[in-house]
This record gives sequence, C-alpha cells and structure tokens, in this order.
Amino acid sequence: MNIPFLDLKAPYQELKNELDAAYTRVMNSGRYLLGKELEQFEQEFAAYCGVKHCIGVGNGLEALHLVLRAWNIGAGDEVIVPANTYIATWLAVSYAGAVPVPVEPDEHTFNINPDKIATAVTKRTKAIIPVHLYGQAANMQKIMTVAQNYNLKVLEDAAQAHGAEYGGKKVGGLAHAAGFSFYPGKNFGAMGDAGAITTNDDKIAEKVRLLRNYGAKIKYDHGVKGHNSRIDELQAAFLRVKLRYLDSWNERRRKVEACYFRQLKDTDLVLPIVADGNRHVWHLYVVRTKIRSLVQEHFAQTGVGSLIHYPIPPHLSGAYSEMGLQKGCFPITEQLADEVLSLPMGPHLTEQEINYICSQLKVLCNKS
Ligand SMILES: *Cc1c(COP(=O)(O)O)cnc(C)c1O
Repeated sequence: MNIPFLDLKAPYQELKNELDAAYTRVMNSGRYLLGKELEQFEQEFAAYCGVKHCIGVGNGLEALHLVLRAWNIGAGDEVIVPANTYIATWLAVSYAGAVPVPVEPDEHTFNINPDKIATAVTKRTKAIIPVHLYGQAANMQKIMTVAQNYNLKVLEDAAQAHGAEYGGKKVGGLAHAAGFSFYPGKNFGAMGDAGAITTNDDKIAEKVRLLRNYGAKIKYDHGVKGHNSRIDELQAAFLRVKLRYLDSWNERRRKVEACYFRQLKDTDLVLPIVADGNRHVWHLYVVRTKIRSLVQEHFAQTGVGSLIHYPIPPHLSGAYSEMGLQKGCFPITEQLADEVLSLPMGPHLTEQEINYICSQLKVLCNKS
C-alpha cells in the first residue's frame, strides 16, 4: 500500500464536472478580479458562518494581519497568541508591528489554555488570537470573559476549523472577527492561495475592504496605505462549488476519526479528544507517542504518510530568535512538539486504508 498523508487530487476528481464548469464560466466572463464570483462567495460564506460580513483576501496570514491593522494594532502593542500554533498566527502580529505574547496550551485539547491568559496581560495588550487548532474550537467562553475583563479584542484564527462548532455556533462568528485560510490542504481549500475575514462589525468590515484593495474606496483615491490582497474570480468560483460539500466532507472526516478511535483506543498512543460543547472537524488527526521517530520510520517502510504539526514551536524558530526565548520557556508546547504525530486524514480516506494504517501502528504501539 501507499497512502499519502494528503491527497489533493481526489477532491478534484470527485467534483471535476462542477469545478470545470466554474473554470469555463470565469474564463469566458472576461472578469478575473473583484467580480460577481467573489461577491457571491462572500455572501454565501458569511451565511454559512452565520455572520454579517465576509471579505475575501489573498490568504489566511493576510486575513489575520488585515484585521489587526483595521483595529489600529501596531508598534508598542502586544497581542496574546498560542505558544502552540502554526507560525502564521505570530507572523500576523509581527507584520502589524506588534509583539506576539505566547501562552501555553491545554495539553488535552492542544488549544490555548484560557486560565493562563490573564497572567500574560500587560498595559500594552490589545488583543487575543485564539487558534482553533486541528479543527476544534478553543475554549471561547472563557476567552471572551478574559477579553471582556481586560477590554481586549478577540480574533479567531479559524484557518484549520471551517465548519467547526462551539456551543452550537459556527467558528467565524464566536468573537469580534475571524481569519480563515483556503490553502489547498485545509478542510475547505481553493486551488491556490485564498483567505477571508468574517465579522459582524460593519466598521471593521468596511475598513478591511479598503485595506485589501490598495486602500481605495473609489478607484485611484487612496485614503490609506492599503494592500493588494484579494481572492481572484477563479478561486472564488471554485470555493463556491466546494462550499456546498464542506459539511458532508467534514462528516466524512468524523467517520475517519471514529474508525481510528475504534481501532487505536487500546494501544498506548494518546488519542485526540473532543472537549465539551465542541463539534470537531478533524482538519488533522494528531496522536501523541514517546516513540515517534520509530513510528515514522516504520510508516516510511510500509508506505504510510505522516507529518508533524509542528516540529519546532515558533518561540524556538530562527524567525523569533530575537525574542530570546530558550528551550524550557514553554514546556507543554515543547513536549507536544516532541510527541505529536499527524496520521493521514481526509474525506477521501478509505476504510481499507485506515485499517492498514492502524495495523501498522499496532505493530509498535500495542499495550504490552
Ligand atoms: C494555514 C494557517 C494559517 C495561514 O494560512 P495561509 O492561507 O497559508 O496564509 C494561519 N493560521 C493557521 C493556524 C493555519 O493553519
């Protein structure tokens, strides 16, 4: 067997007719940027998330960055971020000119530990960016309470959690604004780079709309120093097709998780859990093991793809060496980085493939 970690061809093959029709429609339209496809996608995704506004931008990093700019967060400000996240969450803060202030995760959910946020707040703190890591919402109830107590803005990093729910509400509408990524490998991915901001705040929506298009409301009248950060018409048309399948594809991911759980619950792997009030969308299926390199070696020999999300936490990466954060500063994050392993996960994984992956895991991880 040869099971890739991620199969990006299968989604295209399943939706080929509709995606090809979308392609032809846009190519024949002669309009490739800021047209009807994007306008309609924005309405459809806002409705899906249950929010007033969706603004399409170039990618997920830009989505987060532009919200911070719209909030006038910049030099001299601090923004609380998870220590355990993809580096883009931190980079958005850095690009705004502010300083990311990391907070340790809850080791069972992998998400930011809300009980540790208050001690990281200073006079300079302006916002919190909780990440809904691996497809499960952060503890938004506690996070919004801390934010209220200290008068902070909250920006959801929903790049891994399209369609996930918390307390019966979709992510994207749980805070003051949210940033999404439609990178091809996400649960809801384009055929290239794309991202979006969702919010119920009319003013921020308008500001972000300005910022994404060179800061011009009227062509060539540039009120602010804007960006060039938009979803093109082709990507918007592809996303409109794929949005109709998001819920059913997330459901298929839940079936994959159930199958993994059934077969792996009696091994000595630490399996991922779903916290109360959450509807997980399983962007990644992440187990923990002390013998990770052995497992990866065995996988490589038996044709199973696997990845580590993420092997080097941002505070130990070269990109943030200037912060002077040594090994040992964030021990929970560092331990996770040493033990986590992502198994293949996606709507197109077959039962036969899952069985094979589990049988390979049992060779090494059976309880003795
Ligand atoms: C993918 C991702 C991003 C960035 O999205 P891009 O579209 O690649 O810029 C941000 N945050 C998290 C948690 C992500 O997984």
